[in-house]
Amino acid sequence: MSEKIYYSYNQIHKTVKKLAQNIIEDKYEFDVIVAIGTGGFIPARMIKTFIDRPIYTVGLKLYDGDRIAGNSPQKVQWIDEVEKKLTGKRILLIDEVDDTRTTLAYCVEELLSHNPAAIAVAVLHKKDKTKNADFPPGIHNYYCGEKLADKWVCYPWDAIDIDYQETMSQERKD
Ligand code: 5GP
Repeated sequence: MSEKIYYSYNQIHKTVKKLAQNIIEDKYEFDVIVAIGTGGFIPARMIKTFIDRPIYTVGLKLYDGDRIAGNSPQKVQWIDEVEKKLTGKRILLIDEVDDTRTTLAYCVEELLSHNPAAIAVAVLHKKDKTKNADFPPGIHNYYCGEKLADKWVCYPWDAIDIDYQETMSQERKD
């Protein structure tokens, strides 16, 4: 994918704030945040600033660099004592971007197998494209900060040169 879209930390922070406000206005109460790593780690921490809940992390890998690595995400890390932490709990599942939806749908399915009381999904960005997977029935809601065209999103935490990232994010026309 050649076209890229850049975001600054400041822009991401504002998107997270809007996302948190949507969740609060929707009155979705949750006990725990589950962050899909590594892209969901920093958004999850930012959400915690607005809605303070414990964060659990899971590591799923679909991409190797910017290339798709296989048909299904690989679990590279999972929650210890998962039944104790998730059964009967209300979950907010966070990732940075809903691209093909393969990862999110897989993760929701896995989390549902531990019988949480509720699960909702929150992403910073949703790419406007045909999805390869559907969410299983039973998710409470799906919150998205912004809808985007199908471009490769460059996040500030991946930047080697943060000044270039900042410049490119300011030049974005959307
Ligand atoms: P999906 O399963 O929805 O296709 O995407 C899974 C993961 O791929 C996302 O959680 C994210 O880590 C990565 N990904 C997909 N599209 C992008 C993108 O445009 N930019 C970045 N940085 N990561 C992406």
